[in-house]
Amino acid sequence: MTLKDSRDLYDRALSVLPGGVNSPVRASIQPYPFFVERGDGGHVIDADGNRYIDWVMGLGPLLLGHDLPQQVQSAIQKQASAGPMYGAPTEIEVELAEFVSRHVPSVEKVRFVNSGTEATVSAVRLARGYTGREKIVVMQGGYHGAQESTLVEGGPESPSPSTKGVPQSFAEHTIPVPFNDTEAIERVFEERGEEIAGVLVEPILANKGIVSPVDGYHETLRKLTREHGSLLVFDEVITGFRVGGLACAQGKFDVTPDVTTFGKIVGGGFPVGAIGGRAEIIESFTPSGDVFQAGTFSGHPVTMAAGLKTLKYAAENDVYDHVNDLGEQLRSGLTDICADQAPEYTVAGTDSIFKVLFTRETPVEGESHCEAGCEQRTDCARYTRCPKTGADVGNTEIERWNRLLWPAMFDQGVFLSQNGFESQFVSDSHTEEDVEQTLEAYKHAL
Ligand code: PMP
Repeated sequence: MTLKDSRDLYDRALSVLPGGVNSPVRASIQPYPFFVERGDGGHVIDADGNRYIDWVMGLGPLLLGHDLPQQVQSAIQKQASAGPMYGAPTEIEVELAEFVSRHVPSVEKVRFVNSGTEATVSAVRLARGYTGREKIVVMQGGYHGAQESTLVEGGPESPSPSTKGVPQSFAEHTIPVPFNDTEAIERVFEERGEEIAGVLVEPILANKGIVSPVDGYHETLRKLTREHGSLLVFDEVITGFRVGGLACAQGKFDVTPDVTTFGKIVGGGFPVGAIGGRAEIIESFTPSGDVFQAGTFSGHPVTMAAGLKTLKYAAENDVYDHVNDLGEQLRSGLTDICADQAPEYTVAGTDSIFKVLFTRETPVEGESHCEAGCEQRTDCARYTRCPKTGADVGNTEIERWNRLLWPAMFDQGVFLSQNGFESQFVSDSHTEEDVEQTLEAYKHAL
């Protein structure tokens, strides 16, 4: 690939943007990121005119891909040309809230915000305000955005900030536990149950992943939080309106959280976040309650129009069948390629998300029981070694991602997630041909 214009743009960017980017993962690509000129269906075209099959899809929001259907495009344009925003309520935000409440099992009321981070910040404040308690349980390797309460690492007894800038005294209100470890969470509730405001969990670890829940794990979280008067908060920023279709991952797993955070798809490609849940809890936000929450851009009409029209389009067309079918083709094709060429590697994901993990152990012949809840190939010996925790994923040969796999795929015109931990996403614009070309490229790269 020739990337002269991208390199020039990156040079310019470095002198005015820290690290040359506005979000760090974008600079993971070595020696410099490519700059995008435009999207086209399931592809992106860079500043030098090179075309790539795009499995990043804006890091998840683009359920429909880059070519928005005409009705979605015109709703966005109509809203933008009516003046972008007002600081006063509009009908479209009520309509999107009605749609979300109708389709997501646990949601009766919604507050819209402007990013996934803002959603989880507000959900944590809500859990604390509603319960009058301070501690938040999170999963090691889980990600809930760039916020103080969750940029915390370590174990339940030794939480510490995972970045400079977060005081140790903040981290001490967070209790990180390993995902999928029933004993660990039971112990934490036994010892400190009455201090815990809520458990904040991605239904599937999708940022240090992909890690599916083992059977019964979310049910355990539901039972413990209920018994101890804590809130169960599902962070569905990635899984929302992707895994489990319009009912989200909570519908797929049949677990009803008290509160759910959303982002990404619910804004149809524009900045968004949302906090939904039981009316009585969500009513705790100001002005109906006394947990302060506010935002100039919240419920932005252009975002609301994009989100509503995207979800309606998905509801009225076979979008989820298409993306899940291509997701299954990718996972099963990759499983065959790995079996042949890299038997120690694991293919992870469900619905329209997928990833190859560089696990180190070749599965043992005859061990064929799959503990993880990923649907595919449950009879396959490979899945006995599926990572069960964020640490399992951290222990893979991750250095191979940026050094070897990513560039080898990129050279063949395939854009994979910029680091080895983030999920990859299928959109409605992707085709079987994109899948075939991608599998061919993996065959060469692996
Ligand atoms: N929660 C989860 C599960 C996420 O994956 C992300 C971002 N990928 C966030 C929260 C933060 O969302 P945002 O980047 O929109 O702030």
